[in-house]
Amino acid sequence: MSRPPVECPICHDSMEPDQRLLEHLLEAHTKRELARFTAVEAQAFEDEDLSD
Ligand SMILES: [Zn+2]
Repeated sequence: MSRPPVECPICHDSMEPDQRLLEHLLEAHTKRELARFTAVEAQAFEDEDLSD
């Protein structure tokens, strides 16, 4: 059985089977990008709560 490829939530690159998403995030993206992404994610969760 093969698991579906993990996709980077920021650039949507598919990870290689032996590549960890965390390693990709740290290598390919700056801390600023990561911070902005997590801020967007937090906002999305807030929006979800409001629509409930
Ligand atoms: Zn990426």
